[in-house]
Amino acid sequence: MHGFVHSIESFATFEGRGIRTAVFMSGCPLRCAFCHNPETWSPQGRKVLPEELAKQLLRFKPYFSRGGGITFSGGEPLCQAEFVLDTTTILKASNINVAIDSSISVLNESVISLYQSLDFVIADLKFHSPELYKSECKFDCFETVIKSLSYLHKSNIPVILRTVIIPTINDTIEDINAYFDLIKDFKNITCYELKPFHTMGFGKYEDMRIYNPYQNLPDADMSVVAMLQTHLNNLIKGAKH
Ligand code: SF4
Repeated sequence: MHGFVHSIESFATFEGRGIRTAVFMSGCPLRCAFCHNPETWSPQGRKVLPEELAKQLLRFKPYFSRGGGITFSGGEPLCQAEFVLDTTTILKASNINVAIDSSISVLNESVISLYQSLDFVIADLKFHSPELYKSECKFDCFETVIKSLSYLHKSNIPVILRTVIIPTINDTIEDINAYFDLIKDFKNITCYELKPFHTMGFGKYEDMRIYNPYQNLPDADMSVVAMLQTHLNNLIKGAKH
């Protein structure tokens, strides 16, 4: 089965642990108002077979010591779960550490098979209510996201969780309490990071002539994000005792 790849970044240190190669898959069903990669929304991309892509990725193997590996990102890698699984199966046969970086907004049999083959999942918990997913991501996937987190917990698959903190949308202590309530029972979450919303990707919206719903929002205040992260860490620590 063919897949469609938008681009490959060979030294993506932010995409999980160690030096990792990020494969940005084409296509995403969400339209997050804070998306920094709108160029990956289209399902069109370089058409490849799993064997071709795996061969290309295995060239980076010498750089994958100390916990590095491959991270499938996007776009939304779960929209091409069968292709990602076929490629992962080849990579795992060569002992490569494989992860995905995903909105976890798709859950079906192919996605479950893919989850079972991964070393860990970098997952976004974008919002803490169905209403915010609908208004800010234009996709009614809150329930699927929570079901996916529950499935990953039951299967004991390690998850690095992330939330982007956006001024006036989800930047209060009450918001963080609501996020924590959703995840407090999931012991497979190895780390929960709050990321600051920033305006660096705004030029892409202008270049692509796409309406930018957050065009009047400022960057998130780093001291607010740090304060919220400390509050979240304390909640998580408290739940462990
Ligand atoms: S899920 Fe990711 S790629 Fe898709 S619109 Fe949202 S931020 Fe962009």
